[in-house]
Amino acid sequence: MPTEQLINELQSYGARLVDPKAGHESRRGGAGPSDHKAITIDGMTVMVPVHTAPAFESPYLVERPDAFGRSRISRDGVTLASVNFPTRPRFYDLNTADGVPYWKIAVLHSRDVLATTVLQSCIRYQSRTKTCQFCAIGQSLAAGRTIERKTPAQLAEVAKAAVDLDGVKHMVMTTGTPAGRERGAGILAESAAAVKAAVDLPIQGQCEPPDENGWFRRMKDAGIDALGMHLEVVTPDVRARIMPGKAQVSVERYFDAFTAAAPIFGRGQVSTYILAGLGDTSEVVLQTCERLIALGVYPFVVPFVPISGTPLESHPAPSPNFMHEILRPLATMLRAGGLNATDIKAGCGKCGACSALSTYEREAVA
Ligand code: SF4
Repeated sequence: MPTEQLINELQSYGARLVDPKAGHESRRGGAGPSDHKAITIDGMTVMVPVHTAPAFESPYLVERPDAFGRSRISRDGVTLASVNFPTRPRFYDLNTADGVPYWKIAVLHSRDVLATTVLQSCIRYQSRTKTCQFCAIGQSLAAGRTIERKTPAQLAEVAKAAVDLDGVKHMVMTTGTPAGRERGAGILAESAAAVKAAVDLPIQGQCEPPDENGWFRRMKDAGIDALGMHLEVVTPDVRARIMPGKAQVSVERYFDAFTAAAPIFGRGQVSTYILAGLGDTSEVVLQTCERLIALGVYPFVVPFVPISGTPLESHPAPSPNFMHEILRPLATMLRAGGLNATDIKAGCGKCGACSALSTYEREAVA
């Protein structure tokens, strides 16, 4: 089976693990995609859902890994591929100067990405009528797996250790949306400045479009190398249904922000997450991507993951065919537009573990 097809199937169906403790800790709850585990297949590390409802019934089974993290993946008793689990990072064993375990400040994503949610609360998460239906930002906080506000000093300390001890290559800083009009741009800028003062690590900041475009220059000057502003879904009625609070920021405001940010961060360094499988048609997703690529914005299209405990936990994940219908032409469009995941300095598009997109990009180049 071609690798991109296997990754698509694994990200749609998830996988059952013979040993749920294999690899380093899986992500549960938190902002963004979750309830999955990093697995390396054919040199690509991908996030495979393992704690979602579909994963419990997945036809894919991952064997217990050996002492070196090596395992195999099978379907109906037929071995399909050898896989590896990234090992537990060493920085997880440390505590900050003020006594907080490092893993509550930032976590390892994929195999070389340090990820943190600077502010683990969100104006949109307080009420079920406003919350993004796919989001679990409050779950990891409620379960005591993180702290609400990571200070710049804590982030700097953890980032330095993650580089020194585990060789992380880039950092993702996301945030829940605070009450202010700058939508978190300010706390991302102060956090990035502190990290950059401690260690030379490329950083992607992720937030909603701030109230004024002057923030983009301030964020860049503070040390943010790449910026993510995530559309998530794009069709008006799908936006209103899936993310009633965030839908109040119009798609046109996002495009205005992309247009202003792209020249500041550089072509391909501004990106957006699009969650496929929540109601947007493949045509609409591809039309939106075409518009984004023309602006030099990288559209990171990922399959929706139904996270346990969210209002969408029973929503089906998109089929592998639906993802194939989008990702194959998208890889060709990216290539024609001169955008590559590998050229991104930091962030989700560079990491690529939550989607098979970069595998399709490799195929398009080949
Ligand atoms: S793509 Fe983004 S959210 Fe997914 S594992 Fe990589 S850094 Fe984390």
